[in-house]
Amino acid sequence: MLTSVAHHRERLKVGDHPHFISGKWIAGEGESYEQIHPSTNEVVAVFPEGDAEVVNAAVLSARKAFDEGPWPRMGARERKKILQKFVEAISAEAEDLGYLQTLDNGLPINFSLNTRVSALTASDIFDHYAGWIDKINGETYPQYTDTVNLHYHTYREPVGVVGAILPWNAPMMMFALKVAPALATGCTVVLKPSELSGICVNRLTRIVAESDLPDGVFNLVNGGPATGRAIVEHPGVDKITFTGSRAVGEWIMAEGAKTMKRVTLELGGKSAALIFPDARSVETAAKTVMGLCSTFLSGQVCSTQTRAIVHKSIVDDVLRYAREQVDTVKFGDPFDMATTSAPIISKRQAEKIMNYIRIGQEEGAELVFGGDCPGGDLSEGNWINPTLFAGVDNKMRIAQEEIFGPVLSVISFETEEEAIALANDSIYGLAGGLYTADLSRAFRVAKKMKTGAVGINGYSVMPNSPAGGVKQSGLGREGGWSTIEAFTELKTLMFNLDA
Ligand code: NAD
Repeated sequence: MLTSVAHHRERLKVGDHPHFISGKWIAGEGESYEQIHPSTNEVVAVFPEGDAEVVNAAVLSARKAFDEGPWPRMGARERKKILQKFVEAISAEAEDLGYLQTLDNGLPINFSLNTRVSALTASDIFDHYAGWIDKINGETYPQYTDTVNLHYHTYREPVGVVGAILPWNAPMMMFALKVAPALATGCTVVLKPSELSGICVNRLTRIVAESDLPDGVFNLVNGGPATGRAIVEHPGVDKITFTGSRAVGEWIMAEGAKTMKRVTLELGGKSAALIFPDARSVETAAKTVMGLCSTFLSGQVCSTQTRAIVHKSIVDDVLRYAREQVDTVKFGDPFDMATTSAPIISKRQAEKIMNYIRIGQEEGAELVFGGDCPGGDLSEGNWINPTLFAGVDNKMRIAQEEIFGPVLSVISFETEEEAIALANDSIYGLAGGLYTADLSRAFRVAKKMKTGAVGINGYSVMPNSPAGGVKQSGLGREGGWSTIEAFTELKTLMFNLDA
């Protein structure tokens, strides 16, 4: 029976979790909250809740470091050296950080150590942005007319104080995706981890605290939605970079508009994987798509392709291969290297998923397998068996709404045009996919899919490739030059050469 994972705290030297403001650890008085482990529902950490006063102190600290401190004005070479030390320090602690992430959110340890959400990826993201620092350039323009002798050029200035708000599912990668570009461009930061996974963010903050970063450049405030709201509402914050649900993203955009805050929003998805009969291997395609829902974070990933849009001639094959894939799933202790799939992050989220499974059945979809909980040795935690619906109509709620769990819907099509129309019939557009061996079809279909990215015969985001959504999946991209643009403002200088 899996009853406890809390004993890992001692080996990993998990202590208390103060805020970090102006280069000092602040214990925090007043309200506190508990972090519950999803595999057992036991308390694994307690955090002080950052109220409006704590948020204000953090913003003033970041404001002072931005307006008066050396960071935004520092030479590229010096700033780059400081960021490069993070690359080494995070790599050096990669194993412990991986275990801390599993203690945070129940991601099976094999994935926490070895995939794109590992500390090594976080380190690579810092490396990627450190590389931009001495290349953040502007442009010069030709003289426009003979009547005025003007020389124009632009350069990029840091946008200012950045409020960074993280989701629970990939805390290390999210920390890096927000902090690395902010620091690379010379911004200062107030960061809030998710109230569901703050342990490894605290350890990453210790790395920041031990670095040469000037005081006040990076500030950590623990807390839940109220803390996040206080950051968004604060007039001293210039930009919000947020990853999380669509509903919160919508609120942030509306609230941020009052002070015209810049926003980067990475929100939810209901992405489609199109499986054509000419796929190089229908078996690989079916098992890959099912595996995204059934292993790793059990479908609790924004980019999961939760709609399999399958040509009607191969639907039966896809269902059979999906079953074979799910037979390889192994639930259990998240710290066991053999475990393949995570529990559901909270009881509330597990109830939401079970409710969607009921809705799917009521709507008339065919429940092929799953739809229940494993129980037995895992009954203390929030576990849901991988679930497959066939005969799904794209108008059904299970095909339109983000479930954020181990539920895959199979929708059949006859023509390529129909497949594209089904994929695009969604308020979301984050991470599409298609499986075909026909290169012309791959280009043709990918160009017509309304989504931020399309994975052709597989989907994987790298630190140097932009990722983000269209439609209600968000605004902006993370990765590459476009992120540098999103954390800077363009300033135009005009030199009157006749003066
Ligand atoms: P969430 O929106 O519930 O919470 C995200 C963060 O926002 C948390 O830190 C939370 O405390 C904070 N928050 C909540 N209400 C707030 C408010 N009014 N103002 C400011 N902050 C507030 O999301 P979650 O459950 O942590 O994550 C799951 C969601 O995130 C899913 O919708 C998923 O698709 C999305 N997600 C998107 C990406 C992406 O890159 N597009 C990546 C991971 C997760």
